[in-house]
Order: sequence, then C-alpha cells, then structure tokens
Amino acid sequence: MDLFEHQARELFEHYGVLVPRAEVADSAPAARAAAGRLGGRVVVKAQVKTGGRGKAGGVKLAADPTAAELTTRQILGMNIKGHTVHRVMVAEPVEVEREFYVGYALDRARGRFLAIASAEGGMEIEEVAARRPEAVARIAVDPEEGVTEAKAVEIAAAGGLPAEVAGILRRLWTVLTEQDALLVEVNPLVVTRDGAIVALDGKVTLDDNARFRRTYAYGPDTGTAVDPLEAEAAAKGLNYVKLDGRVGVIGNGAGLVMSTLDVVAGCGARPADFLDIGGGASAEVMAAGLSVVLGDPDVRSVLVNVFGGITACDAVAEGIVRALDTVTLTKPLVVRLDGNSAARGRAILAERAHPLVHQVDTMDGAAARAAELAASAA
Ligand code: GDP
Ligand code: MN
Repeated sequence: MDLFEHQARELFEHYGVLVPRAEVADSAPAARAAAGRLGGRVVVKAQVKTGGRGKAGGVKLAADPTAAELTTRQILGMNIKGHTVHRVMVAEPVEVEREFYVGYALDRARGRFLAIASAEGGMEIEEVAARRPEAVARIAVDPEEGVTEAKAVEIAAAGGLPAEVAGILRRLWTVLTEQDALLVEVNPLVVTRDGAIVALDGKVTLDDNARFRRTYAYGPDTGTAVDPLEAEAAAKGLNYVKLDGRVGVIGNGAGLVMSTLDVVAGCGARPADFLDIGGGASAEVMAAGLSVVLGDPDVRSVLVNVFGGITACDAVAEGIVRALDTVTLTKPLVVRLDGNSAARGRAILAERAHPLVHQVDTMDGAAARAAELAASAA
C-alpha cells in the first residue's frame, strides 16, 4: 500500500522528522478554514498517490484563506496521471533555501536496501538519474546492520548533502524498519532560510505482507481501491484486479491465472480481470468470485479455468452451481476443469445443464471459445 503524502507526513512527524504544519481538507470551505488556522498563507497540495503533482498544477501557493479556498476549488476533481483529487493538504509554506533528495528502496536482486541521496532534489529523481547519473548516490544498506551514525554520514557525503541530514536519515530508516516499508522517499528534503531541515514531500510504500503487525493507524485507505469491483473483491478476500478487456477470467493459483490471461490474449481477446480464487478454494469462494466478475459491465463472457490440485474440481463445480442459484447468469460461462476430481466436476455441471454454461476440456479450447463468445456478444 502506498501512503498519501499527508499520511507519510504524519508518520515522519511521529518519528521526529521535521515536517510543515498541515491539515487535510476535502472541500474548498474546509481548506479556507484550515488556512485560517495555519496563519493564512499556505501551500495547497493535491493528495493523490503519484508524483509530479507540482508540474501538473496540483501544488499551489495561496496568499490567504480566500485564495486557498479558490485554489482548492481548482485542484479538487483534477486528474493527475489518472488519479482524481478528492482531498488536499493545506500546509504552512516553507522558505526553501536548498532542495535534496533522500530515500530508501528495496533492492530485491541483492537482498539489500539501497539508500539514495542527491543534492539535486525537487525534480523527479528518475530524470536526474537519467541526465546526470553521477549526481545520484546509491549506497547499499545491510538490513541487519541498518543505518548507523557512520552509515548516515557516509550516505550524506556520497550524495553531496550536509552532514546535518544524518540524523534524519537515521530516523527515516527507523520509519522503514518499524513500519515494514519497501520505500521511504523524501523529495524534496529542504534546508530552510533558518537552517532547519524539513521533509517537504514524502512517499512511503508499506509491505502489505506485514499488514498483520502494523502498529500505526493509517486510517481508512480511501485512495487505493477506487474501482468498486476491486473494493468488493477485496472485502470478500479475493485476489482480483480489474483489467480493460471483455473476457472475465477466473482461475485457481496466480500462475495459472496469468497463463490464462496470456492464452486469452493469444486468442485475440482481452481479459477483463485477473481473479485468483486461490489454492484451497471452496464453493463459497467460487460463488463470490463469479458474482464479482459477472457484476463487471465490461464482461461479455467468463472463462473459469481450474486445475484441480488441493482444490478439487467437484467443489469448484458445486460453487458454480451454487452461484447460478444466487446470480442470474446473463453472460456465457466457459468452464474448463482438469486435474483432481475433474470427471466429477464435469458431471455436476453437465447435470445442471444451464444453457449459458459451456464446458471445454482444454485450456486453449476454452479460451478460444470464451474469446469467440465475447466477440459475438460485443
Ligand atoms: P510533487 O511535485 O508531487 O513531488 O510535489 P512536492 O510536494 O514535492 O512539491 C513540488 C515542489 O513544490 C517542491 O519541489 C517545491 O519546490 C515546491 N514546494 C512545495 N511546498 C513548498 C513550500 O512550502 N515552499 C516552497 N518554497 N516550495 C514548495
Ligand atoms: Mn515531491
């Protein structure tokens, strides 16, 4: 999960990193009131989980509460790289003297974290790295050793940053380790006119595998699952990703679902989703999955591709039959069952004899059939 800037800001503050005073607002009058409390002159910042907001017009200085209200009215509803702005952060402006970049990112290939530091902050770091790679220092951090005082000084020096940022580098490392983050980035980290070092913008990506042991309350994650189908699927505990094609895809096991997407594409059609009902998928899970996919108005046909292993095909077939009792099937369903208890599964479906359910015994054949049915329904 990616955090919004205001959530990252709160987290940094909690760990003793200096951040501007700020409030979140979801309407122009709320922004006006917040500006009033923050001293009048404020920066209004779009809260979307993408960078480059400044360039897109999503970060604006407002001279007083009235200007903050007007600016917020312009920013709310704005689309920044595909993200609609629902809220803004109203922050006390900072007098910027110098801008730096600092961050930690997971280097999966080497099983290490990478500290990244650059004296050229403010711009997108990828741009700086492409144009002047020597201006971006990358230092490996051993996760067991962590960022010691000496390490922090080394990182700062490598990036051409003043030694005073060492303390912040260590605090950000604590944020990363204690919050199970995969990425912690501050761009820009600024030196103010008064010589204070302030995190002006933050990006934090948390490792969702560690969700169970998160200690910090992030509040409702209103920004991620914007797709209502994805939200519904998440609530049902399904691994579902909405795609933009017409063939709904359901399978068991991420690998099988991925190859099913490929085979559907190979048949000249486009998958409408990725839905993995998982290893020990029960009839209930199958029914829940079907109702999500059938609820997608883009779907023209549904392909259920199951290789019975731990999940027996007869359980899957029963799930489909049960789903047919609760959901009115308005779209053709192509089912391929193979592996554990395939014969019994096929028999259960054959007995139900629903006119819109087609059984095909091979994956390629089933995908071709689903593609064909989607095309003729379009
Ligand atoms: P991003 O474009 O999404 O990375 O948004 P940022 O929060 O990094 O803001 C973009 C740029 O706006 C920063 O690099 C700063 O140069 C500038 N900026 C943001 N807040 C302030 C502020 O309080 N004071 C000043 N002087 N500049 C700011
Ligand atoms: Mn930034």
